[in-house]
Amino acid sequence: MSVKLASIIAFLENLAPVSLQESYDNSGLLIGSPEQMVNKALITLDVTPEVIEEAVAHGCDLIIAHHPLIFKGLKRITGSSEVETCVIEAIRNHLAIYAIHTNLDNITSGVNSQLARKLDLINTRILAPKTGSLKKIVTFCPTEYAHKVRMALFDAGGGHIGNYSHCSFNQAGEGTFMGLENSQPFVGEKEKLHTEAETRIETIVPSFKVNAVINAMLEVHPYEEVAYDIYPLENIYTAIGSGMIGTLEEPLPPIEFLNKIKKNLGCQHIKHNQLIPHEVQTVAICGGSGSFLTEAAFRAKADVFVTADVKYHEFFEHRGKMTIVDAGHFETEQGTKELLESLLTKNFPNFALRISKKNINPVSFL
Ligand SMILES: [Zn+2]
Repeated sequence: MSVKLASIIAFLENLAPVSLQESYDNSGLLIGSPEQMVNKALITLDVTPEVIEEAVAHGCDLIIAHHPLIFKGLKRITGSSEVETCVIEAIRNHLAIYAIHTNLDNITSGVNSQLARKLDLINTRILAPKTGSLKKIVTFCPTEYAHKVRMALFDAGGGHIGNYSHCSFNQAGEGTFMGLENSQPFVGEKEKLHTEAETRIETIVPSFKVNAVINAMLEVHPYEEVAYDIYPLENIYTAIGSGMIGTLEEPLPPIEFLNKIKKNLGCQHIKHNQLIPHEVQTVAICGGSGSFLTEAAFRAKADVFVTADVKYHEFFEHRGKMTIVDAGHFETEQGTKELLESLLTKNFPNFALRISKKNINPVSFL
């Protein structure tokens, strides 16, 4: 079944909005047009010439990759680097390329939730939640419209706090206005000062949903000119951020847990520092390069921190108190491919998908 690329992008970006990516990242549509129709997608961690060949050979016209093919600006595309070659081959073969990277890392149902599942972690939460990702929206409407306006705010994604939905604060008051010459006031007469019994509604909204929530509110609000305020908040937003932390159902001796990591992630080798002298219960994780979260993992009282790309000196940190495990970048992120496949299959049941077989770990062990 062919699908407009824009619908696939809309689905992925509703799940992991591009605005949640880190500043250095380049997630989103990298090659192609949202208007083109696509018949089959290849899912991969990395885009390489072999992966492009595979896509072409299997009739795919879209590659959905975790790591962006293009990170920095390309000044010329002559095929002098692997990235340039891939760009040339993708365009030559009408292949669209879409990347879903740190925006998929930073949500609760993304890369790390998949890693948590593979390691049998329960009670998971974001390890380093972000601040500055929430806004407060305040609006004022005639009291008899307050329920309708509130529901529109909630239905579009406002009012979620932790395990609670439909959160708002409502206060009765009086609004005043006077419609000018060209106005068509919903209540009162133009050019006459009007006082209306109004409700002040305030609720909380993730930054990336502000436009959608405001538009939904404007749709149902009866006034010609709607008064509303958007306030930035410094609150921590627990649903967005880096890494995850969770617990094992049953504590395990450190060596047993490390063997479990090896087995469940299919690692040939894992690197780790000194084992802790007690059983492992709390585990912090970050798929891919996650050393920047070592302190957060330690502060959160993790017994083990599982990540990748750990440098030599970083293994000295917290040794004996928290075991740091480098299980490999590819190994800790490979579940992302199945995650994307299952999410896309649920939403586009008749759209053909293939998980790349040519996207292999570039790191070998002797
Ligand atoms: Zn990665």
